[in-house]
Amino acid sequence: MSKKLLLKDAHIEGIRYFETYRKQGGYTAAEKALKMTPDEILEEVKASGLRGRGGAGFPTGMKWSFLAKPEGVPRHLVVNADESEPGTFKDRYLMEFLPHLLIEGMLISSYCLGSNVSYIYIRGEYSWIPDILEEAIEEAKAAGFLGKNILGTGFDCEIYVQRGGGAYICGEETALLESLEGKRGNPRLKPPFPAVKGLWERPTVVNNVESIAAIVPIIDITGAEYAKIGVGRSTGTKLISACGNINKPGVYEIDMTITVEEFIYSDEYCGGIANGKKLKACIPGGSSVPIVPANLLLRTVNGEPRYMNYESLADGGFATGTMMGSGGFIVLDEDQCIVDHTMTLARFYNHESCGQCTPCREGTGWMYKILKKIEKGEGKMEDIDLLWDIQRKIEGNTICPLGDAAAWPVAAAIRHFRDEFEWHVKNPELSQTQNYGLAHY
Ligand code: SF4
Repeated sequence: MSKKLLLKDAHIEGIRYFETYRKQGGYTAAEKALKMTPDEILEEVKASGLRGRGGAGFPTGMKWSFLAKPEGVPRHLVVNADESEPGTFKDRYLMEFLPHLLIEGMLISSYCLGSNVSYIYIRGEYSWIPDILEEAIEEAKAAGFLGKNILGTGFDCEIYVQRGGGAYICGEETALLESLEGKRGNPRLKPPFPAVKGLWERPTVVNNVESIAAIVPIIDITGAEYAKIGVGRSTGTKLISACGNINKPGVYEIDMTITVEEFIYSDEYCGGIANGKKLKACIPGGSSVPIVPANLLLRTVNGEPRYMNYESLADGGFATGTMMGSGGFIVLDEDQCIVDHTMTLARFYNHESCGQCTPCREGTGWMYKILKKIEKGEGKMEDIDLLWDIQRKIEGNTICPLGDAAAWPVAAAIRHFRDEFEWHVKNPELSQTQNYGLAHY
């Protein structure tokens, strides 16, 4: 059984409220942190090996150490709660059931970074959660854990919740900052990075909800102890939101030492494939990471078991591996049609492109149109090569990672499931009435 750090109290009735959270030991990590110096906290975060839980997996301590500290210029912490990656819903779970864990993590992080005004930017579709967060903020303030002169330390901190308008692109940190400033959420060219010029051109750290919540157990048990959980550079615990054709969809906390096979088939986690079907493929890190067929998902090309951690999932690069990403674990059974699935994703990324750069604006539209054509049985063999060519021209040639996010699923689908694309071309009548999966199993 995986160790629980973030969700250990999630089952307790009333844990959403300050009184219950406090009774379970809540805010003791904050009390401990406020007796430390900001540099001591930073060292703990670095020692923990925590990697950003939003998708990129960049070391959090290193990110914090890049924060510029010019004299007299305010700094900000911004929590990225714009959890819009299809298949990812673990931050929603944290905010809905454990809002004080996020608030406590923000207090510690704000103190470490010198942010007196911090923000939570939350996606518009999570319409009921801002009220939960604002209630938790008021409770923390009433108890002296937010506001002026917190616990008599002289440190002031306010937290504000900002609702987004529902655009996927606002999960990209610079688009988020633009939106937070009241502008259209277009990604900025980098450099300068937010650590130097972020919110209102002030030094800013943008971190995911889960990353900031993880600061609480890191301070609680120390960075060194946190680093002992997990394996290699995949330290601590990770929340995985599991969905698709499985028996037990939900949010699970894993310690990154379990195998993918155990995660899918164990009753402790996904409970196996629904309706007794066979596993066909999986996207383990949210819709933008490469899809992996079952044979490469459960084992690496060397025959080693594949583990639920950053290194093992990526083993072999994109040719045979994938990414931990945001931890949005999407499982596809044998009945699913990869072309149909890829077309759905292409439509999403085309719809969400902000339109600033040509490869993304035009390329995502082309990919969707070609995939639609193939899926309807109206495609030609050369369309598959054209699709491959277009995704190659998008990847790495755009302002922000949405271009890559749109290209990778198409590349992986063609790489691993070209036969399905060809089946649609060769069987135009059949592909209008049924999908490849149902026709072949
Ligand atoms: Fe906008 Fe797409 Fe360019 Fe990102 S890659 S800036 S979403 S057009």
